[in-house]
Amino acid sequence: MKLDNCIFCKIANGEIPSRTVYEDADFRAILDLGPATKGHTLILPKEHAANLYELPEETAAKVLPVAKKIAALMQEKLGCDGLNLVQNNGEVAGQTVKHFHLHVIPRYEGDGQTILWKPTEPAAEELDGVLAKLK
Ligand code: 5GP
Ligand code: ZN
Repeated sequence: MKLDNCIFCKIANGEIPSRTVYEDADFRAILDLGPATKGHTLILPKEHAANLYELPEETAAKVLPVAKKIAALMQEKLGCDGLNLVQNNGEVAGQTVKHFHLHVIPRYEGDGQTILWKPTEPAAEELDGVLAKLK
């Protein structure tokens, strides 16, 4: 399914031009217009899914192999020193475009980016409580 008012549906399906790094039957990978670093790429499924919760399992299973291809490209062609995979779901998590996308962000020594979180120090009981809920 494609959504008429979804910009990433239009980009993924070629209705809006994009700088396409990789394409197959299910995905288009494009350069981000506001890149965190040189080569920051977004992997977009061609079928609309707002987020990970809506993403069909079979599409989810195919997305990481695409990320591996892009990661190899970034290492070989851009000479990155590392890489972050980032995938935001919901506004609280920083999602701004409501069509699933996986960020592949090449990292370079001294690139000045911070794509990390601030660790907390929960008590053991708190961790156990969370585990009990999730199990
Ligand atoms: P989010 O914050 O939803 O995880 O990430 C959305 C990303 O999409 C941002 O990094 C933003 O720069 C990028 N973006 C938004 N609109 C466009 C667009 O029209 N074209 C491209 N190539 N990237 C976009
Ligand atoms: Zn869409």
